[in-house]
Amino acid sequence: MKDKILNIAGLAENRTKNTAPLKITHSNLWRALCFLLPSLLLTVVAVFYSIKTVDESTKRGFASNCDEIAIKISTRLHSHAGLLRSSSALFAATDKVTRQSWKALFKDSKIDRNLPGIQGIGFSLLVPKKDLQEHINTIRSQGFPNYKIYPEGQRDVYSSIIYLEPFSGRNLRAFGYDMLTEPIRKKAMELSRDSDVATLSGKVILVQENNNDVQFGTLMYVPVYQNGMPVNTVDQRRKAIMGWVYSPYRMNDLMNGILGKGDINHFEGINLKLYDDSLSDKCLIYDSRINNPNQIKGKPNQALSFPVVFHGKKWILYFDEYDVPVSYLENKVIVVLVSGILINVFLFLLILTLLNTKKNAQAIAEQLTAELKGNESKLRAILDNSFDAIAVEVDGVWDMCNAATLQLFGCATKEELIGKPFIDTIIPSEQDKIKAYTQNQIEGLSIPSPHISCGVKADGTVFDLEVSISVFIHLNKQHVLFILRDISERRKMENELQEYTLQLKKSNENLENFAYVASHDLKAPLNVVNGILNLIDNGKGMPSDTNDLELIRMAKIAVDQMKVLINDLLEYSRVGNNREDFSNTDLNEVLGYVQVLLKEKITQNSAKIKINPLPVISANKTLITELFMNLLNNALTYHGKNIVEIEVGFSEEKNAFKFYVKDNGIGIREKDFEKIFIIFKRLHSQSEYGGTGIGLALCKRIVEAHQGTIWVESELGKGSTFYFTIKKQD
Ligand code: ADP
Repeated sequence: MKDKILNIAGLAENRTKNTAPLKITHSNLWRALCFLLPSLLLTVVAVFYSIKTVDESTKRGFASNCDEIAIKISTRLHSHAGLLRSSSALFAATDKVTRQSWKALFKDSKIDRNLPGIQGIGFSLLVPKKDLQEHINTIRSQGFPNYKIYPEGQRDVYSSIIYLEPFSGRNLRAFGYDMLTEPIRKKAMELSRDSDVATLSGKVILVQENNNDVQFGTLMYVPVYQNGMPVNTVDQRRKAIMGWVYSPYRMNDLMNGILGKGDINHFEGINLKLYDDSLSDKCLIYDSRINNPNQIKGKPNQALSFPVVFHGKKWILYFDEYDVPVSYLENKVIVVLVSGILINVFLFLLILTLLNTKKNAQAIAEQLTAELKGNESKLRAILDNSFDAIAVEVDGVWDMCNAATLQLFGCATKEELIGKPFIDTIIPSEQDKIKAYTQNQIEGLSIPSPHISCGVKADGTVFDLEVSISVFIHLNKQHVLFILRDISERRKMENELQEYTLQLKKSNENLENFAYVASHDLKAPLNVVNGILNLIDNGKGMPSDTNDLELIRMAKIAVDQMKVLINDLLEYSRVGNNREDFSNTDLNEVLGYVQVLLKEKITQNSAKIKINPLPVISANKTLITELFMNLLNNALTYHGKNIVEIEVGFSEEKNAFKFYVKDNGIGIREKDFEKIFIIFKRLHSQSEYGGTGIGLALCKRIVEAHQGTIWVESELGKGSTFYFTIKKQD
């Protein structure tokens, strides 16, 4: 099937091409800005939120770093305590701990590698006053002749650092030092002794310090009790105390060892101050800035302090942080800001484009709508002004139609047709023709439009239609377009034309016959006259005798006959079917007039003429008079011996009046029924019945001029009845 699709899309495309691009309007610019402002606000909020997040993240990071450092310090202190505990175990394992075994212990511990930052591991022996001299002697005997406990002086009890590994360098200065003489150390030592735990001293300057690189220090003590003595109570522990395993720490070295070299500075911007017991300058025992003199000075960004408690000793770790210059690209805030601005710009341009696209689309749509409306009304005007009925059928029912369709089917409103089956408007005998034609159109076969008769409505009049059908698809539905034309009038004219053509043809034939017969029949009297004139001419003078006078009389008769013939021919030739000559003709009057004209002949024959009442008809009065005149004249002429009886009457048929002229004359043989209507055909000689043979031919011509027919019914010797019809005129 040939698809015919309404190309509305193509129309739109063409319109788009023809439409000049619209510029950005102020209103669209303002609208886009209205969208932009909240978006910008959102960006600002996002930036502030990012700043807050970064701050919180920095704080969390800072706290986490501080926590990590504090844990490291606490863990290391406990590790050191463990080391001292294991060293003190040596005294429990053996009665006599020698300098060599101490040295070996230190060497095995690999302290430098495992716990860096320890100044050393030592043992301080408790020496009661009564054993002082013996003790000095013993140590001196071990190769230290100058050994003495210092500071010197009288005390009830002494302590002396007798072992300290590594026993070299600044550690040598601690050899023989009585740590009980110094209150801070003494406090830690006594706490250690009484509670049997590792204790840390307060802030001290180690005896190992010289004037070079002086650092604050601290010491860790673990008590050593004499083997076999009970140590369950403080008293028992005071009695059993034999000395202390201890470690002196130089704070900078210790912190470097715990945190790793530069570890504090690894956490960029973070500083650590370590206070003994309280946050006061006099309690400060470590400051990481010592390792990083280039640290930023001034007010710190943020600060945190953590207590680290170790067996009763409280260290306070104080962390602070300064602004650290950051790479802007790494800065989350900058990223948020820049991307926010970019998104806003992009959004702004996008909205502007969308608004303008929308406006353009609206303008095009409006133009298209206006154009479509214009086209639609134009199309509607074309349809409604079309003389042809145009209608569309969808799914077998009328979908739309124009005014001419309503007029064609005699409908007042469209509702009388729309929604009803189209096929119902076709008379049943023609429906198959329409269905077949529609099917052919669907299959794409090209066949001429059918002419059908279509039954209408209300009065059931059947009229001729010319139907043109085409099928197209619109919105996926099959539409059948009908163009219907009432061709009744055309048909009528065609029929009339055909009739006229036949008449003309017949007329031509008659004319040919007429010319032939007329020349023949006219020649006959002429020949007679010519012969007589020749005879007279041969007599060389005017006719004088009786014979000559008879010849002249005969010539006169021939000339008269020729005159009658010529008159009859003239009558015959005048007969036409010009409707303008038609008028209402009262045939009763016509027959009265004819009887007057034939009065003499009627009287001569004592004829009885019965004229039944006749109608008034539309006809050429002269010709109708001539017609009745000829028929009545023949009825009066061709009579037998009986008294002439003639009857005239009529009957009315649907489209015509049927008349008859009946006589009781000589009658006609059946074989001559046709012949007598041919011009110049006669059944009798002149001597029997005078005549020209034109009368009935003239009658036939007159009847045909009134669209009727003439015929005769007769029996020889019993009379004849001539019938003719005259068509009723509109
Ligand atoms: P005509 O001038 O000879 O009468 P028509 O054409 O009128 O010519 O008639 C043709 C022939 O038909 C006549 O010659 C006659 O023989 C025959 N005819 C006509 N009318 C009658 C009639 N009423 N009865 C019998 N014969 C008739």
